[in-house]
Amino acid sequence: MRFVVAVDCEGVAGVVGSPGASLNSSRNLEFAKLQATREADAAARGLFEAGAEQVIVWDNHNGSLNLHYDMLDERCDIALGVNFEHRFPGMDEGFSGVALVGYHAMDNTIDGVICHTFSSATYQWIKMNGQEVGEMAVDGAMAGERGVPVIFVASDDKGTAEAKRFFPGIETVTTKQAMGWNAAVSKHPKRAVNEIYETIQQAVPKLDMLKPFTFASPLEMEVRFKRIEAAQAASRGYKGAERIDPYTVRRTLESISDYY
Ligand SMILES: [Zn+2]
Repeated sequence: MRFVVAVDCEGVAGVVGSPGASLNSSRNLEFAKLQATREADAAARGLFEAGAEQVIVWDNHNGSLNLHYDMLDERCDIALGVNFEHRFPGMDEGFSGVALVGYHAMDNTIDGVICHTFSSATYQWIKMNGQEVGEMAVDGAMAGERGVPVIFVASDDKGTAEAKRFFPGIETVTTKQAMGWNAAVSKHPKRAVNEIYETIQQAVPKLDMLKPFTFASPLEMEVRFKRIEAAQAASRGYKGAERIDPYTVRRTLESISDYY
C-alpha cells in the first residue's frame, strides 16, 4: 500500500489569512506552514499505522517550499519544488490512494476561508462539464486518471462538505468552522492533528469501496475570469477557445491532464 498526502496551506486549523492580503503575505503564513506540516505528518503517521509501505508528502501550496521537512515522520518521502511533468509527483498507477490535507473550498463558496480555485485574483469560477469545481475535484481527477482514489480530506467545514459531494464515502476531518474569507472558529491545532491521525486510519479498510474520481472526457471547461482582458487573452491564447460572454471562455480538453 502506497499513498500520497497532498498538502495545501489555507485549510489547516488556526489559519484564516488576513484582509487585503493573500495567505502568502499574511502574518498567518508562518503558522500555516507549521500547522500544515503537523497535519501532513499526522496523516502520514496514520497511514503507516494502517499498514502503508510508502507515503509521499507532496508540498503543493504556492511555490511548493512550505513545510518543515525535518519535522515530518522520517518514514515519509517528500515531493517539493515546481515544474514537475505531472501533478502528484512520484505517484503511479500502483498507488492505493491520495489524501488531501489543508485543502480549501472552491471559488464561489459563501464564507469559505480563503476559498479559491488556483488563483483568487484571476478566476470567479471554473466549470468542468457544466459543474463548478475547485482544487479538490481537479486534483482528485488528476489522481483518478491514474486510477488512484481520494480517500481522505482535511479542510474547513465548507471544504469537507465539498469533498463529500465529489468523493462519496471518504473520511474527512473538519479543521475549523469557516465564517468568512478571513474568519473562522478553529479547532485547537493539536486536536485537529489528533483527529487526522485517528480518522485517516479508518479510510484504509474502505479502500476497495472507493472509486477513482474522473470527469467524462473529452471535457468541456468553462472559466469565468475576474477581469475582461484576462478573458480576452485566454480566448485568443488557446486553439478552439470560444468567448461565450465578455468574462467567460469555453474550451475542450482531451483529458484533465491537458489543464496543466
Ligand atoms: Zn494554497
